[in-house]
This record gives sequence, structure tokens and C-alpha cells, in this order.
Amino acid sequence: MAESLVFHFTLLVFNFLMPVTPYHFGPSGLVGYVFRKWIDFPVFVLANVIVDIEVLWVNYLHLGWPYHRFAHTLLGGAAVGLLWGLLAYVIQPVLKFGMNIIRINYTPTFKKMLLSGVLGIWMHVLVDAVYHYDVKIFWPFPKNILWRIIYQHQVKLICLICLGAFLVLYMIPTFKQFLKKR
Ligand SMILES: [Zn+2]
Repeated sequence: MAESLVFHFTLLVFNFLMPVTPYHFGPSGLVGYVFRKWIDFPVFVLANVIVDIEVLWVNYLHLGWPYHRFAHTLLGGAAVGLLWGLLAYVIQPVLKFGMNIIRINYTPTFKKMLLSGVLGIWMHVLVDAVYHYDVKIFWPFPKNILWRIIYQHQVKLICLICLGAFLVLYMIPTFKQFLKKR
């Protein structure tokens, strides 16, 4: 039973999340890194990933269309973001450990974590609303007025550019150190 559950979820991850979710690393990484003084970097970036558990869940339960529901709205997303911020506060040592590995200075505070949970999910919902027709970002207002304000391939391109910019910014300190040593 447990094994088939794992198998089923892995299949769903590959079918539904792998093609789209990684794009969110671009904008969330860049914004989270640039504003890391005020934003909790890992909470913000991971919020952009965990919100898509909703899509997995809807698929797993065979609820059908729309795939984007409660968590993919500003209101519902705020609630999910607060919960995620709360959980992140509890698992703080894990986040600190991760930040230590990728060498990003990290001083978490409860307020920052809650705020970053909400902002992270909002950022995800904003990108998704432009990309996917079924995101009711302004729920209870039913219409997605952001859908296709730019084309899907443009959304993807912007995400990739953001990812590139983030990686360059992230590498600058290492690069400087390397030059100093020479
Ligand atoms: Zn999504």
C-alpha cells in the first residue's frame, strides 16, 4: 500500500510538476536573494515549490479540472503561506543547515518567516495566473484577468532569465574570492 502510494506520487511529480514547477526557481531565487535582508530566502523559495502539492493532490484524488484551486488564490495562498511559515519556524535547524551548505548568510526571525511564506506563495500564484487559465488568483472574483497578458513561452523565458541572473549574483562573492587569491 505505502509502496504504491509512493509510486503513484512519483509518477504524478514527473507528469505534472517536473515540466513546470522548476521554472519558479528563477523568479523566486532572484527576488529572494536580492531582498534576502528582509525576506527569508529558503522559506520564500520553498513556498514556490510546496504550493504545487495542491496540483498533485487534485490529480491524485482524480478531482479533475481545475487543477489550481484554493492554494492558487491570493486569499487561500496567504493562509497556506502562514502555515508554511509556521512549519518553517519549527524546522528552522534544517533550513539553517541547508543555507550553510549553499553558503548564504541566514538569520531567520519568526516575522520574516511568516511574511516570506505568504509572499513566496503569492509570487508563485502570480506567475501561474499568467500561465494557467484555471488560476482564480483574485478569488472570490472568478475571472483570471492576468491570463496571457504575456505568452506562455515568454513567461518561461523570463523565468529562465531570472534564474540566470540569480546564479550570476550568487556566484559573485565566490568569483571575487577566487580573483583575490590569484
Ligand atoms: Zn502552481
